[in-house]
Amino acid sequence: MRFCEHMKTRDFPCEFCDTDQPQQRKLVTLTRQRRGQWYIFEDVPAWVCPNCGHRYFDADTAQAMEDRMISPTVDARPVTALAMTLPHTPEG
Ligand SMILES: [Zn+2]
Repeated sequence: MRFCEHMKTRDFPCEFCDTDQPQQRKLVTLTRQRRGQWYIFEDVPAWVCPNCGHRYFDADTAQAMEDRMISPTVDARPVTALAMTLPHTPEG
């Protein structure tokens, strides 16, 4: 994997589409779930495919999120959310 820090892009083909465009470094918000508990992570550095929007995370970033789900840091704050399911409709 080649990495160009100064350009904030990554020359690595997206696994989900055929774009030749480099992934872009962005801060994103994402949710994770462990043992029925949802976690929201904000300002997470990610590599984002400019074509399909798929997000890739560096190994240390992914590990940091895993660690915080096991031992949440002092900045963790409870939020209220509404979870719901859309009715399933057959395709076609
Ligand atoms: Zn893509």
